[in-house]
Amino acid sequence: MTLTYTVGKGIYVNLTNRCSNACDFCIRQYGPTVYGSDNLWLEREPTAAEVIADLDKYDLSQYEELVFCGYGEPTERIDVLVEVARAVKARRDIPIRINTNGHGNLINGRDITSEVEGLVDIMSISLNTANAEDYVRICHPEFGAAAYEGLLEFARLSVPRVKRVVLSVVETTLPDSDIDKCRAMAEAMGAELRVRPFE
Ligand code: SF4
Repeated sequence: MTLTYTVGKGIYVNLTNRCSNACDFCIRQYGPTVYGSDNLWLEREPTAAEVIADLDKYDLSQYEELVFCGYGEPTERIDVLVEVARAVKARRDIPIRINTNGHGNLINGRDITSEVEGLVDIMSISLNTANAEDYVRICHPEFGAAAYEGLLEFARLSVPRVKRVVLSVVETTLPDSDIDKCRAMAEAMGAELRVRPFE
């Protein structure tokens, strides 16, 4: 199983293939790998100890960040994520990022932003659209329209607890007016907006 892989100077951690969205554009529809990685479909979800053991094969001083990304939504396994992040920080203060759909509080039924405070340096949240209606149409969240307000609330709660909170949209999928709305929403809560290229 591929528990970790590298992209450039980043180490990526693959905790789960579960996700509370089923986005039309999800790369998981196009194959089992990203950026030349090995197969990212997991036979079973790894324990924290297995992930930590796998990470011990890296010289952390040679990398610029560690990213919980997965081939799924990493906050589906928040307890494992926190345990792994704590172990990594104990070894080296490498920046840690979570790439998330922002549903972590809905998935876990509690505010998990307090649990990552001091461990996670960047919360990168896929905003995708400028309103809930478009979000439901494109991302098909299991939480329905509540997912959109849920992810905005997750972002707002993350701002005081994580050094950088970044909301992201894909440049070719939104009109400029929607990108402007997304930027205004991000800035109003003290977050950044990242307009990323379609890959
Ligand atoms: S949130 Fe990410 S992992 Fe989940 S379906 Fe959408 S693109 Fe795929």
